[in-house]
Amino acid sequence: MTAGVLRCPCGGTLRAWGHARNRTVRGLDQVRQVRPDRVRCRSCQGTHVVLAAGLLPHRGYGLDVIGAALLGAARGHGHRVLATRLTVPVEAVRCWLRRARANSEVLRRPGVQTVVAVDPELLPTRASPTRSGDALAALAATALAVVRRFGGYERDLWPCTVPKLDSGC
Ligand SMILES: [Zn+2]
Repeated sequence: MTAGVLRCPCGGTLRAWGHARNRTVRGLDQVRQVRPDRVRCRSCQGTHVVLAAGLLPHRGYGLDVIGAALLGAARGHGHRVLATRLTVPVEAVRCWLRRARANSEVLRRPGVQTVVAVDPELLPTRASPTRSGDALAALAATALAVVRRFGGYERDLWPCTVPKLDSGC
């Protein structure tokens, strides 16, 4: 349960407010049903759905699948190859890559800010050939910094879970 830990965008505290609808999420290794928590703000009375770290809003695929596609693209693989490797429709992969490119700065900036705040030693020192690559490097550094500072397992970070893309594509 996340109530009392997270804050509403208005700054108010959140309390448990039941659950959101069930949804099916496809990961690299499994398809699962999830039922996220719903919380309500004590200040503005707004309700929010709280997703686990491996889930993305409005996506039927887990972060491991979408992250693998983004990482593969940053390494130079095309959307058709990635779709085949991940057994995902080509249009879905193309959409993820377009959105990531369009929002690369929105992804990169908070990543860099978090790394600087948590462990500046982990800040990427080399620029990637693409802005999406820079964003992924910043997010990967953020995840590593947060796990090292606050706990967790480095092996669970998604860039470490996609060796399938490194071999042969
Ligand atoms: Zn609020």
